[in-house]
Amino acid sequence: MNAKIIDGKAIAADLRAAVAAETKRITAANGLQPGLAVVLVGDNPASKSYVGSKTRAVIETGMRPFDFHLPDSTSEDALMALVRRLNADAAAHGILVQMPLPPQIDASRIIAAVDPAKDVDGFHPLNAGRLASGLPALAPCTPVGCIKLAKTVHPSLAGLDAVVIGRSNIVGKPLAQLLLAENATVTIAHSRTRDLPALCRRADLLCAAIGRAEMVRGDWIKPGATVIDVGINRVTGADQKSRLVGDVCFAEAVKVAGAVTPVPGGVGPMTIACLLVNTLRAACTQAGLPPPAV
Ligand code: NAP
Repeated sequence: MNAKIIDGKAIAADLRAAVAAETKRITAANGLQPGLAVVLVGDNPASKSYVGSKTRAVIETGMRPFDFHLPDSTSEDALMALVRRLNADAAAHGILVQMPLPPQIDASRIIAAVDPAKDVDGFHPLNAGRLASGLPALAPCTPVGCIKLAKTVHPSLAGLDAVVIGRSNIVGKPLAQLLLAENATVTIAHSRTRDLPALCRRADLLCAAIGRAEMVRGDWIKPGATVIDVGINRVTGADQKSRLVGDVCFAEAVKVAGAVTPVPGGVGPMTIACLLVNTLRAACTQAGLPPPAV
């Protein structure tokens, strides 16, 4: 069997184009230009490159970027003061503080300080609680992207046996909540799960958010299942060249699964596209407008 490759790059490009069209319409009709504030503390190369991609995407979509780059030595009080300033700034509809933060800053205090209405990362405990309670919420971008990719294969996820490996607040837990909201039957696995391969083999929809290169092997996958690989791991090959791989062994998965996301080019591009959706939604809510049509 040769699995369908879920082309996250193309799906994300379509979503970004839809967000751009909707932003244009809303800006023309209401004079509302959604604004996204992105705060980077320090010089982590991966974070810098990610923040750069976000800013480019914001500009391409017709939204307004507000970029803040603070030194690695920034105190928690100084970052907190910036977050409070942005909370009060009506032009900044979304606020994103890039993680990880330097060790002198308590990330959970910063996350809790962001106005939940502007929490486009969906990390604030209020949004996490609303999501878990089945109430409208700004949900984390990567899991929302996973759902959108899964739905390109299964227009309805209702009744599917879904296994999520990973229980982080950023990916695993919100992904499980979103799947539950879609009426899937959800199991969350983690490092203490017994016989993970057997558990995975039950899944119609297998989502891996582990952070371990190619841990999920072909014989963990039920024939015909859909596999969503969230992992991004840098490895050095036998040729000494560095490359990105997922948490799933793609070469094996593609022979067993019905559909699978590649790394790179699967879940990754969806994250920024879903951030744009969240920013547009947050702007509409703050302006008292109906939700956007994306
Ligand atoms: P994380 O916070 O480190 O969480 C990893 C989860 O995997 C934990 O719940 C952990 O279990 C579980 N785990 C670790 N080893 C395991 C094992 N041997 N068996 C079963 N479960 C195991 O990571 P994260 O932030 O969720 O990210 C996960 C991956 O997704 C990383 O590769 C990250 O780079 C990637 N990611 C990608 C995007 C994107 O845009 N594509 C966005 C975010 C993250 P315990 O809880 O028991 O420790």
